[in-house]
Amino acid sequence: MTPEEFRTAGHELVDWIADRRLSVEQRPVRPDVEPGDIAARLAGDPPEGGEDAAAVLADLEQLVAPGITEVQHPMHFGWFPSNAALSSILGDIASSGLSSLGISWESSPSLTEVEEVVVDWLRSLTGLGSQWSGVIQDTASTACLVAMIAAREQATGHNQAGSGLLGFGRPLHVYTTEEAHSSVRKAALLAGFASDDIRLIDVDPHTRDMQPAHLAEQMAADAAAGGQPAVVVVSLGSTGVTAFDPLPAIADVAEPYNTWIHVDAAMAGSAMLLPECRHLFEGLERADSLSWNPHKWMGTILDTSLLYLQDPEHLIRVMSTNPSYLRSTSGGEATQYRDWGIPLGRRFRALKLWYHLRIDGPEQIRARLRRDLANASWFADQIADRPDWSVVAPVRLQTVCVRHTPPSLAGDEEAVSRHNLDWVRRLNKSGDAFLSPSTLDGNWIARVSVGVESTERAHLERLLELLDYYAGDLST
Ligand SMILES: *Cc1c(COP(=O)(O)O)cnc(C)c1O
Repeated sequence: MTPEEFRTAGHELVDWIADRRLSVEQRPVRPDVEPGDIAARLAGDPPEGGEDAAAVLADLEQLVAPGITEVQHPMHFGWFPSNAALSSILGDIASSGLSSLGISWESSPSLTEVEEVVVDWLRSLTGLGSQWSGVIQDTASTACLVAMIAAREQATGHNQAGSGLLGFGRPLHVYTTEEAHSSVRKAALLAGFASDDIRLIDVDPHTRDMQPAHLAEQMAADAAAGGQPAVVVVSLGSTGVTAFDPLPAIADVAEPYNTWIHVDAAMAGSAMLLPECRHLFEGLERADSLSWNPHKWMGTILDTSLLYLQDPEHLIRVMSTNPSYLRSTSGGEATQYRDWGIPLGRRFRALKLWYHLRIDGPEQIRARLRRDLANASWFADQIADRPDWSVVAPVRLQTVCVRHTPPSLAGDEEAVSRHNLDWVRRLNKSGDAFLSPSTLDGNWIARVSVGVESTERAHLERLLELLDYYAGDLST
């Protein structure tokens, strides 16, 4: 493809993207497809002699796009908001267009320095102190893994330089709760911690927040048995019910053991942009690492996850590689982000944040988050006022967990649970809206995660009608 051909095809593609965004509400939220359907539509081999960009765009429209779950749809209430501000898509295009290689400061000085600037903008916008240094990771899963590895090495006195984990010889314990995201356990296992050494600390039965008294008991028992409390992963805004583990009390317990504290605020971190929500994040200055995802509620397109550390030397010591061809001619001054994570070659992800923050601006982003909080709170009030409906977990931010109990099934927990899974599935299959079924105490509930950029109050009014229809359907 020549630059001139790129120009023509690129304009067409951008027009197509803008049109899709304008028409998103006219499509079903979820495609009506079965596994294998999309692949079966695509031709077997790539065309030997190449094809026109127009033919590819036509297939994107007809074969690929219909297989997209429309997470930008205003009736999407599943999982979490996976917003993709158009301004940030421009940044993504700019990143690809610059086609730079981020393997060292020298291989693209701007890639490193724009990243330093935007992560510091967000540090300041979220009220974090200047002692924190940040880096962009692809996802919160990777951020957690990287933090776990640094924590492991801190706990073993950097035994990777010698006999490694096996040589350390004592159990290394990880503490979190059953509310923690599945990526936390995965990160712990990948970082070399043993499944048997992961402790799930009790939670408050109502809020699902970690109980620090149980953490204290468990850490003391582990230490008395010769183990090392290596890391505690604190969820600030858990995925399921938005639990907030009490960080100050956890830090009181963990600090005497020199335990690494990693804060997973992947979903809820966007709320730190709002001063009125910062009380939920009290105690952050006592954590070692913090990650959150601008690629969720805040709305910078995937994959833009932030990892902040009080002392990045912990990462650099563990991740650094310094072969001669990577050595910079500019001395030791420059940040080498390859030493802050796993990949050597990094994309220019910072441009997504730079475009998003510059074009939309923090003021507009904050206004949208406040709109979503107000909408979620309004929706929870409506549910609470409706006969046979209940809000089953505290609404800390923008997620509302609901359950429908038809009078005919009241008292039969198992039937109520099945009924809730059933109506959510039928609603989702209709394509009119999408919610995540979830379990609480082993029973099915529905999570309504408010916060898609295009979701307004009217969409929540519509959702209430759909809930009455799909849940009521079966009970009558
Ligand atoms: C979404 C989420 C994650 C995982 O985020 P990825 O960036 O997709 O890895 C981890 N923790 C919490 C609390 C989340 O909400």
